[in-house]
Amino acid sequence: MDIVYYCKHCRSFLGTIDGTKTSFGSLGFSILTPDEREDIMEFDAVNQTIYVKTVCEFCETALREHPELLLTPTPLQ
Ligand SMILES: [Zn+2]
Repeated sequence: MDIVYYCKHCRSFLGTIDGTKTSFGSLGFSILTPDEREDIMEFDAVNQTIYVKTVCEFCETALREHPELLLTPTPLQ
């Protein structure tokens, strides 16, 4: 089973972890509540892949400098 990380804002691919060689606990998921886990993780049963939403460096920087970007996804101008 693969674990795929992607950016939830720009959907860019950030990396893959081979889940068969990694224990779930070591990835830090065990500290999340079931709700949080459901929120950031998506299980694709067909491809046996877990997709994990995260934020890439580019979006993290952009949002830190322009937090209003989150609030105005569709500017009116
Ligand atoms: Zn991004």
